[in-house]
Amino acid sequence: MRSVVKWMLMTVVLSGCAVVPSSPAPLPGVQVAAGISLLPGTFVPGTQPDGNTVLLRGQDALVVVDSGRHAQHTDRILAAADASGVPVVAIINTHWHLDHVAGNAALRTRYPRAEVYASDAMEDALHGFLADYRAQLQALIARPGTADPQALAGWREEVARIDSGDRLRPTRVVTAPQDVSLGGRHVHLGLERNAVSGGDVWLFDPATRTLVAGDLVTLPVPLFDTACSNGWRQALARLDAIEFARLVPGHGAVMDHAQFAAYRLAFDHLLECAASDTGAVACKAGWLRDARTLIPAQDDALADSLLDYYLQVLRAPPERRNRYCRKDMK
Ligand SMILES: [Zn+2]
Repeated sequence: MRSVVKWMLMTVVLSGCAVVPSSPAPLPGVQVAAGISLLPGTFVPGTQPDGNTVLLRGQDALVVVDSGRHAQHTDRILAAADASGVPVVAIINTHWHLDHVAGNAALRTRYPRAEVYASDAMEDALHGFLADYRAQLQALIARPGTADPQALAGWREEVARIDSGDRLRPTRVVTAPQDVSLGGRHVHLGLERNAVSGGDVWLFDPATRTLVAGDLVTLPVPLFDTACSNGWRQALARLDAIEFARLVPGHGAVMDHAQFAAYRLAFDHLLECAASDTGAVACKAGWLRDARTLIPAQDDALADSLLDYYLQVLRAPPERRNRYCRKDMK
């Protein structure tokens, strides 16, 4: 009997040894490439969005690109990190907008040793755009009358996100393009200073030819709130020169390089249309036609209403529409 048990144990041990170690289980979320997954953000009309989050598995750790705005989104990142069985060693923030950085606070509480890579544009934003936005929120909160309780709660949450500023700041400031090894995964970080936010970091994973573009690419439309449109156009040309096979946008679904080329053409046409006398209706129709294969039909109404606003931004007087363009860059 004892020898049977011993034989069984030997069989288990030997068969265990004979099995080639399997690759780790896929990361939670939409599979993008080997060891890379996407936790899609939300973009619901009438509510503030969450940007996409991308997870990259290194040899012994996890890299998180962008941390979302709402607690529900950040909770999904934390659950995915738990399921991966490895700790988060790095958070990359593609830019400082709250729908991409607010989740840093919760992630850093759980993973205090995680390094945060981002440009220094967060610092300017905390003293400029975000400080102004906070003042507007405070005015709304203090306004006499009965505000919708849900809206009131939302404004208070936004203020709390801005007030966690210390936890949103990078620990590793990206001042120039660089190759880095994060948890054993070798990636390239790029930097655009005159496009969407004054400091847009993108990530290229050469092993899978995956480009994580942040809000340099967004669907259903480009978001011009803090952008320098002409600088952005040039940044898209530089991205096009990278030999990526797939691209993860800051909002919207993964696209291949041909689809990105269509996006870039649609972007160029939109700027040309905005600079012409063509009516807004025709410019909007042109965008939807050019980017048709990238925009699900159910997002047409959202695209239409966003473009109504952004065409006004693009057609504002030069000092206003170019106010986010750096004077020292063409
Ligand atoms: Zn965004």
